[in-house]
Amino acid sequence: MSGNEKRGSGATRPGSREPDFRAYLPAECGSDGYPFVWHSDLKYAVREAADHRCIRCHHPYTKATSTARGEWSPCDAECDHLGDPGRLVHIHEDGPGIMLDWPHHADVPQRARERHEYALELIEKYPGEDERRIEAQWRILTVHHLDGDKANCRWWNLAALCQRCHLTIQGRVVMDRIYPWEHTDWFKPYVAGFYGFRYLGQELTREETESRLNELLALELASANEPRGEASLTQNQPKEAE
Ligand SMILES: [Zn+2]
Ligand SMILES: [Zn+2]
Ligand SMILES: [Zn+2]
Repeated sequence: MSGNEKRGSGATRPGSREPDFRAYLPAECGSDGYPFVWHSDLKYAVREAADHRCIRCHHPYTKATSTARGEWSPCDAECDHLGDPGRLVHIHEDGPGIMLDWPHHADVPQRARERHEYALELIEKYPGEDERRIEAQWRILTVHHLDGDKANCRWWNLAALCQRCHLTIQGRVVMDRIYPWEHTDWFKPYVAGFYGFRYLGQELTREETESRLNELLALELASANEPRGEASLTQNQPKEAE
């Protein structure tokens, strides 16, 4: 998003204010950890900037607002994923407990006990399936905070992802882990923005980051060649790059 276009001031429609992508102080955040403006503006702005598509697999979404949750959108010619990108949730019955894999901040119960009850409901509803459909939760494009910090709403930390890509990225990408190989194309601007902040202490716009992409991406490659203490390159490496 250019950030230069001022949209109608004084409007109360979600997403209608100029989004302020930055790190928020605890006092600016609610008990859920998100800045107050996240729910009123920022998440809508992230989806809009992504043109309502998953930035990784390009699955399209209809526009969701505070009053319209959006419909499930079928695939189109731009999708480059295999299979259904996210109407399914994996449930494993794991010993005495039941595990649910899904985004930590999707519209699912946050408390362990409620989540457990919810899982039991799904299991009853879709018996004998490891993957159960919970369509109502999967209609909207989610936004993942890449470093896991909900108060960090710098543009490079916010990835609009379909639910399946969200799960994959959440499980695979650890921003603090040194990753000295080439990143996947979609991820390059985000990780480069992060490197600019981490290594140079610079708050770069997306445009600035894209114009310095190779230089910024080289920061991690360079630092990986220096002797390191605990951060072992062989430890916990993801199987696949992002
Ligand atoms: Zn996706
Ligand atoms: Zn698709
Ligand atoms: Zn997430």
